[in-house]
Amino acid sequence: MLDADFFRRWLLAAAASVDREAARLTELDSAIGDADHGANLQRGFTAVVAALEAEPPQTPGAVLVLAGRQLISKVGGASGPLYGTLLRRTGKALGDAAEVSDEQLCEALAAGVAAVAELGKAVPGDKTMIDALTPAVEALPDGYAAAREAAEKGALDTVPLQARKGRASYLGERSIGHQDPGATSSALLVAALAEVAGG
Ligand code: ADP
Ligand code: MG
Repeated sequence: MLDADFFRRWLLAAAASVDREAARLTELDSAIGDADHGANLQRGFTAVVAALEAEPPQTPGAVLVLAGRQLISKVGGASGPLYGTLLRRTGKALGDAAEVSDEQLCEALAAGVAAVAELGKAVPGDKTMIDALTPAVEALPDGYAAAREAAEKGALDTVPLQARKGRASYLGERSIGHQDPGATSSALLVAALAEVAGG
């Protein structure tokens, strides 16, 4: 079973990974966006870590809802409300149980990803974070390592796509040939989950 501390450790691992990879995320966003994706997520996850330390929530759902709120309020870019929605909706789906099962997390994450797709009106193939998140939740029933691999492949597979959502879509065909920054950061978040789950 997964408790509040597991989810806290996931978000701390995600924050550390975002710190390590911020320059790369910004570089990807400089090719097809406005070069702020690394800084956006660093600002957001720094706020998440501070909020979790200030008042550690006692349930998995509360950890994710708190983190989601921080991302929504602290990140100016498109990715803040989208990642905030992912965590908040996943947290709400977990309810107020003190511990949740892998299966419950699987279902809750699927609801979270569906909420992101609805908010951003993105479908797989649009060259967004959905291209990493959707294969990850589809692979998750096979385990955390499978989800990580699916997310990493999904991010790589955005390279030949033309962006149909977000800032990169303004580039039209010129968005082809570049990896989507949001799909790349999504793969980092899924990898952090696999890391704390020991997968
Ligand atoms: P901004 O585009 O406002 O500068 P960021 O640079 O932080 O925001 O995030 C850009 C990423 O957000 C993109 O690489 C893409 O993955 C994701 N994104 C943008 N718009 C959408 C959308 N409508 N649906 C899903 N993801 C999106
Ligand atoms: Mg940007």
